[in-house]
Amino acid sequence: KRNMLIVRSFIILLLSCIAFKLACCFSSSISSLKALPLVGHLEFEDVHHASKDFGNRYQLLPLAVLHPKSVSDIASAIRHIWTMGPHSQLTVAARGRGHSLEGQAQTRHGIVIHMESLQAQKLQVHSAGGPAPYVDASGGELWINILHETLKYGLAPKSWTDYLHLTVGGTLSNAGISGQAFRHGPQISNVHQLEIVTGKGEILNCSERQNSDLFHGVLGGLGQFGIITRARIALEPAPTMVKWMRVLYLDFSAFARDQERLIAADNKFDYIEGFVIINRTGLLNSWRLTFTPEDPSEASQFKSDGRTLYCLEVAKYFKLDNKDIINQEVKESLSELSYISSTLFSSEVTYEEFLDRVHVSEIKLRSKGQWEVPHPWLNLLVPRSTMNEFAKGVFGNILTDTSNGPVIVYPVNKSKWDNRTSAVTPEEEVFYLVAILTSAVPGKERVEEILKRNQRILEFSEEAGVGLKQYLPHYTTRQEWRSHFGGKWEEFVRRKSRYDPLGMLAPGQRIFDKAV
Ligand code: FAD
Repeated sequence: KRNMLIVRSFIILLLSCIAFKLACCFSSSISSLKALPLVGHLEFEDVHHASKDFGNRYQLLPLAVLHPKSVSDIASAIRHIWTMGPHSQLTVAARGRGHSLEGQAQTRHGIVIHMESLQAQKLQVHSAGGPAPYVDASGGELWINILHETLKYGLAPKSWTDYLHLTVGGTLSNAGISGQAFRHGPQISNVHQLEIVTGKGEILNCSERQNSDLFHGVLGGLGQFGIITRARIALEPAPTMVKWMRVLYLDFSAFARDQERLIAADNKFDYIEGFVIINRTGLLNSWRLTFTPEDPSEASQFKSDGRTLYCLEVAKYFKLDNKDIINQEVKESLSELSYISSTLFSSEVTYEEFLDRVHVSEIKLRSKGQWEVPHPWLNLLVPRSTMNEFAKGVFGNILTDTSNGPVIVYPVNKSKWDNRTSAVTPEEEVFYLVAILTSAVPGKERVEEILKRNQRILEFSEEAGVGLKQYLPHYTTRQEWRSHFGGKWEEFVRRKSRYDPLGMLAPGQRIFDKAV
């Protein structure tokens, strides 16, 4: 009993010492940070907003939130930690819109940089004088703002994400994929130049020709090598209208064959995606209101009887003066496909409405209290050669319902991805994005059940030798990260020691310990 008491007292003393040391550490960190000369400001009190993300499952409370008003604010904060050397425990997480799923933009007791504060730097569209227009945007700029600004010049970026209320730095740290990626590649393939603050506090410009190692490293680099403070993004002439269509298939192979045929032909459609519909009856009544069936009488005969359906979603851009030609071209392209003929649904919307389509769902879900719920999403890149097997096992067996979030499926061409970037994809020329976007809506499936199913999908894929890669990857061990990066791992580690030797950047990705 006496020994127990001694041990307990010893543990209490030890914990008190650690707590005291941490408190001293924090208070000295706070006072030294307060002394930094900044144009913006550091916030120490109200920091809870930076400890959350869209995933709604992880919460790490930072020590402070930096609201930079200039790039030099970011450089000063990082340089300050860099000069403190390896004994400083401070880490730095750039936070774009905080739409990560697993705490990737968070840091425990570190500094979160609220990148949207940098938006004050104006967007600059360069359209005159050259054949290749571009926009210079802050790393904290939202893609929706870029769309609005560039449209004033009749221009727009070439490659998008499905949802535009995300920041430039946030999507470029991953890849940025949507239905235009088959033609233009992901967003990281459409950037000419970046301005970066490295983990040593240096401000560097980089491009294909200047500091190219840093340029390629940062693209898809999960925030590990520097903070993206500015990006030069390629633009193209923008259409005004979009013909947006959906058709249904009962057979995955027929659906995939048509998707692959379409992404191989550069000129049929401007946007190609698709999704899976499992266990939905009364499908036609619940179809999006904006979509009308081409032939209402035939469409009403179609009964899915709760069977799994595959919906191909395509879009063709046009300007009002070439509508008739476009209609003819679309008709011809559709005639080559093998969907169930009564299930052609189409709609015409403005280009802006089309690109901002997910925001409409956001508003609806927010009004029902279903937006700020946990999102145990699973995003995968599946090689073409194993996609049928994956579909059979996952859509035909493991997934039994898609009413709590879409399951998006579409192929892209690897030739449009630059292998020198940090982004990781399967090796085959064609691979599929499979995004299983289930929400844990109160009263329906619980987070734990959804996570368990995600785990089953990963285990099934492993056993079947599917050879997939995670998109927006999340791992907890060094071994898993090594295997995720495969042949790119050594280079990734080398770049980390070169650009962030203290390992202070983006700790929420859990790839490296504080110092590599
Ligand atoms: P955050 O979550 O804030 O940050 C993500 C990571 O990037 C963190 O590690 C952070 O530290 C780092 N980071 C942020 N800003 C910078 C910077 N300036 N410099 C360096 N590192 C930085 N992705 C697609 O590709 N296609 C889609 O269609 C798509 N649709 C989506 C729809 C919704 C509703 C949601 C919630 C996400 C979607 N995503 C999609 C995923 C999205 O691209 C990523 O989650 C992205 O990281 C979110 O951007 P963010 O600005 O919120 O980044």
